[in-house]
Amino acid sequence: MSDKLVTEEQVLEALRSVMDPDLHRDIVELGFVRDINICGGAVKFRIVLTTPACPVRDQLKEQARRAVMALPGVEQVNVEMDAEVPAWARPADPRKLLPEVSHVVAVASGKGGVGKSTIAVNLAATLAREGARVGLVDADIYGPSVPTMVGALGLRPAVTAERKVLPIERHGIKTISFGYFIDLDRAAVWRGPMVASAIQQFLTEVEWGKLDYLIVDLPPGTGDAPMTIAQSLKLTGAVIVTTPQKVAVQIARKALSMMKTIGVPVLGIIENMSWFVAPDTGKHYPVFGEGGGEETAREAGVPLLGQIPLMDELRQSGDRGVPLVVSHPEHPAAMALIEATRKMAAEISKLTYQEKEQQGVPASSG
Ligand code: ADP
Repeated sequence: MSDKLVTEEQVLEALRSVMDPDLHRDIVELGFVRDINICGGAVKFRIVLTTPACPVRDQLKEQARRAVMALPGVEQVNVEMDAEVPAWARPADPRKLLPEVSHVVAVASGKGGVGKSTIAVNLAATLAREGARVGLVDADIYGPSVPTMVGALGLRPAVTAERKVLPIERHGIKTISFGYFIDLDRAAVWRGPMVASAIQQFLTEVEWGKLDYLIVDLPPGTGDAPMTIAQSLKLTGAVIVTTPQKVAVQIARKALSMMKTIGVPVLGIIENMSWFVAPDTGKHYPVFGEGGGEETAREAGVPLLGQIPLMDELRQSGDRGVPLVVSHPEHPAAMALIEATRKMAAEISKLTYQEKEQQGVPASSG
């Protein structure tokens, strides 16, 4: 008698019942199932997702475990969850600006002060916590707050013998900021093209190594600086941060139309300062009005990735240099940021998959 009570084909057949809710395909067809190992009634395999920040990771794991457990003869199922982030499948960037970076994602806003940098830092920190290789470029020349927000204020990046700049690593994120290099009083008068060429230098002269995601905190607004930077990068997509009031919709609309003009897909909207949570009663107060994020998302036909409450702990964490998702992942604002990051990662996976399908690359190629 064979020492296998079930065959690999039967296991795969059972796993065909597990669908990826974002990609609308089963996990076998998607090529996610790897390394099936059968020993008697014990079955072991890996599921390799397209992002470690998958919003449905636990759900898929449980569904897969159950599907295989239901096979006659199976007594034990061990599912190992893993992720490999496939690179953006658009035609290769002829300038080969960032050959080792799978996805460059910009965080933009129609105006300053909406919490763009706070969101960018927490998006990056969440991706790093989930196991992705992450970089963060603070391109906000007019107010680079990333050094403060990651606890690297006053630091200077080291330079290698090959004259490559080493990013400053904090909380698992490789960071580079204008704030590490320049006299900010002078830089504030730089025009867009100057900023863009400095950014190009950042990107080509920095030793990033292999990255799954590089998050770029753009300068606020829709002037020539954010526009030229966004245009000069090979972006997978952009996230737009807005606040809930009605006037913010018009402002976010400008940011959306800028992305459209330069042909960058918008991954979704994050509404920040959605409501104030009273520290004593926990009651929600919509201090900046309601509905702005939802309306912007609906109008643009993109997802509302999250609504982040206005809470003093989020400001404090930025001032202290430890992102809230790192110091207090159970905090309601951190939980909202983590969920928004996972949704963003899922949107990137979807876009990459659609792009590959259009190019006729088989799904299982990752
Ligand atoms: P931007 O990059 O859009 O200019 P910042 O991220 O620098 O905005 O945020 C501006 C200020 O608001 C910072 O002091 C930040 O800590 C604070 N802040 C941002 N979002 C929130 C929030 N949801 N709750 C409390 N404070 C916030």
